[in-house]
Amino acid sequence: MELIDSHTHLYCDDFLTEEQPKHPKKGVILPPPLPTPRGGEEAVERALQAGVCHMMFPANALDEIGPMKRLVALFPGKVSMAMGLHPTELTDNPEAALDIIEREIEENPGLYHAVGEIGIDLYWEPEKRERQMRAFDRQCRIALRHNLPIIIHCRDGLDETLEVLRGLPSIPQGVFHSFGGTVEDVARIRETGDFHFGINGILTFKNSTLGSVLPSIGIDRILLETDSPYLAPVPFRRRRNQSAYLPAIAQGVATALSLPIEEVASRTTANTRRLFNL
Ligand SMILES: [Zn+2]
Repeated sequence: MELIDSHTHLYCDDFLTEEQPKHPKKGVILPPPLPTPRGGEEAVERALQAGVCHMMFPANALDEIGPMKRLVALFPGKVSMAMGLHPTELTDNPEAALDIIEREIEENPGLYHAVGEIGIDLYWEPEKRERQMRAFDRQCRIALRHNLPIIIHCRDGLDETLEVLRGLPSIPQGVFHSFGGTVEDVARIRETGDFHFGINGILTFKNSTLGSVLPSIGIDRILLETDSPYLAPVPFRRRRNQSAYLPAIAQGVATALSLPIEEVASRTTANTRRLFNL
């Protein structure tokens, strides 16, 4: 069984120190976490051992390019990367950063498999609506020019996200990552374009209703993701998330769609390879 983690941040600084308990007992002062210089590499190796044959790294900010490239070089054919500026990483003048992103993509043909993660986040930064829409629009156009799919981060901003997409000369291929919406949201997104939906540990949470939404998406448009280090699936809820936990999410999708887990693995792996040209 081979799985692909379509969205994981194993290159991020969190993996450069030992895992800390999420909720230490009250009054207990923990020693500072020990450095683990091979942390990201170890996390990739653990995932490969757990049956995750490929991992896709989305970018949030420019300072992540170096650590991402390092892991891509260390694990050729196993790790791929995207390039983009996250909606909560926009400075007062994001145009300069977006210029760098566009140049990076131009100067490294074949290195970047998508533009992302990009989109709208009005949960954390409702006051930056216009700025986020402008940056999302520009990055979608970069994706179209370079014939790349987009990885969409959308939190409390579906209206704005769809408005930007509809204003483009054509709708790029892509994925709504960390999807946690309703059947109605799925329908609205589908009216706008032929999108995939990234399903992660949210599906396994105790009060989640996402399982009942998956049939309206269908296995042909589902990508599996962990979004490590966030959103660890049940039964790893209190842990730092890692790509090695992806089988728990595949099992959740198998249960929700009444499919054998082997079929969930082969179909979602094919979907991810097709979308990102892996
Ligand atoms: Zn992410």
